[in-house]
Amino acid sequence: MPTYRTKVSERIRLPSRTEREEALETAGYNVFNVDADDVYIDLLTDSGTGAMSDEQWAALHRGDESYAGSSSFERLESAVRDVMGFPQVVPAHQGRGAENVLYGSLVDEGDVVLNNTHFDTTRAHVANQGARPVDCPVDGARDPTARGGQFDGNFSIDRAREIVDDVGTDAIPAVVLTITNNSAAGQPVSVSNTREVARFAAEIDATFVIDACRFAENAYFVSEREDEFDDATVAEIAREQLGYADALVMSGKKDGLVNVGGFVATDDDDLYQACKHRAILYEGFPTYGGMAGRDMEALAVGLREAVEAAYVADRVEQVRQFGERLADDGVPVYEPIGGHAVYIDAAAALPQIPADEFPGQALVCECYLEGGVRGVELGSFAFPDADRPELVRLAVPRRTYGPAHFDHVAETVRSVFEDHESVRGLRLASDPPIPELRHFTAELEPVPTTTPSTTSTE
Ligand SMILES: *Cc1c(COP(=O)(O)O)cnc(C)c1O
Repeated sequence: MPTYRTKVSERIRLPSRTEREEALETAGYNVFNVDADDVYIDLLTDSGTGAMSDEQWAALHRGDESYAGSSSFERLESAVRDVMGFPQVVPAHQGRGAENVLYGSLVDEGDVVLNNTHFDTTRAHVANQGARPVDCPVDGARDPTARGGQFDGNFSIDRAREIVDDVGTDAIPAVVLTITNNSAAGQPVSVSNTREVARFAAEIDATFVIDACRFAENAYFVSEREDEFDDATVAEIAREQLGYADALVMSGKKDGLVNVGGFVATDDDDLYQACKHRAILYEGFPTYGGMAGRDMEALAVGLREAVEAAYVADRVEQVRQFGERLADDGVPVYEPIGGHAVYIDAAAALPQIPADEFPGQALVCECYLEGGVRGVELGSFAFPDADRPELVRLAVPRRTYGPAHFDHVAETVRSVFEDHESVRGLRLASDPPIPELRHFTAELEPVPTTTPSTTSTE
């Protein structure tokens, strides 16, 4: 049962079928190019799209916009200390800003960084340092049909040891654990795995970083699934799990429950000094780091709300009920359902569309046409050279949609799925300069239906 109600409402509208067809064509069959006003239920991302609480809105008014020594920064620092257990905080404009600050301070050319699975911006920042990002997921983490275990987000120490054998320990400055594992369908990481990774990082003398974007959702899964924590609160689990790290990198747009913001936190003084100075270069003076004072206030309140038992239970259960409903309707989804999104196996949903005709993107477009629902493709269109399953992600914004909205989405997906044979593949109609980022801007077009072979004698 939700433990909140609506105080401010936002008008949304389902455009007519004709309007949706026009909008999609104008957008070059890429929903990133569709105006938000033309979307009815927007499940593009859970990043920065949630609703703030009345307490957060109230806190905005307290924002201290002083360039140096802002009291809003102090309130952010004390929230990070209380909720996450780290004394030193370097604010940044959002998660990737924090990644630039942290990885720019830790990683050099030729290095190797290990991660259960690098999130896209993490991978890009490691590569931008001239280093090599290497994923160490557990078996089956990316397999939507594995119907796997309780902690499919875990880090594989065996895989990491193979890399160490290959490159040596000196080449590895950082070992990263992303909780929940965003690129592995939002699957959680256990506390016992976190302890093993901490031991492993200490053994090879690497800095142990936790990408804590969804730390509260992860703690909720631990409270359900890891026996040792049967009696612990989400807040206690979060502190325990994060406490094994040397540094955190955080996007406030996820479990910070704000629309923008992020930070690095650490208890290592040398690392703090390095990050602080890099932040001045790229983000801002260390008591605001690219955030307005008011945004730091909202983030300070959001971090505390994120670990409230009632909030996080409602959040994760809402996503789970939505995913299970799709599964019950026969839609092939990644199970168990992760913390922030439901992932549909588009290759299984649209078996007639070959990989080079982007089945995931075709499914995304069809859901928009059918019900004004916007999801995102995370398959061969988004990751041209990677061997990834053809997934479509329906991400759930926090505290934003209710049961009637999810009924509509489920109906939409079900009817697309039932009529799947009529869905056509797509092909590229433009060729953006950076292939890794093409899914944000590329235009596509439907593959023409094959004309029956002519019997002409010419
Ligand atoms: C969103 C995200 C980031 C980057 O954060 P932004 O605020 O989008 O820049 C980094 N890591 C993970 C796991 C994320 O989900």
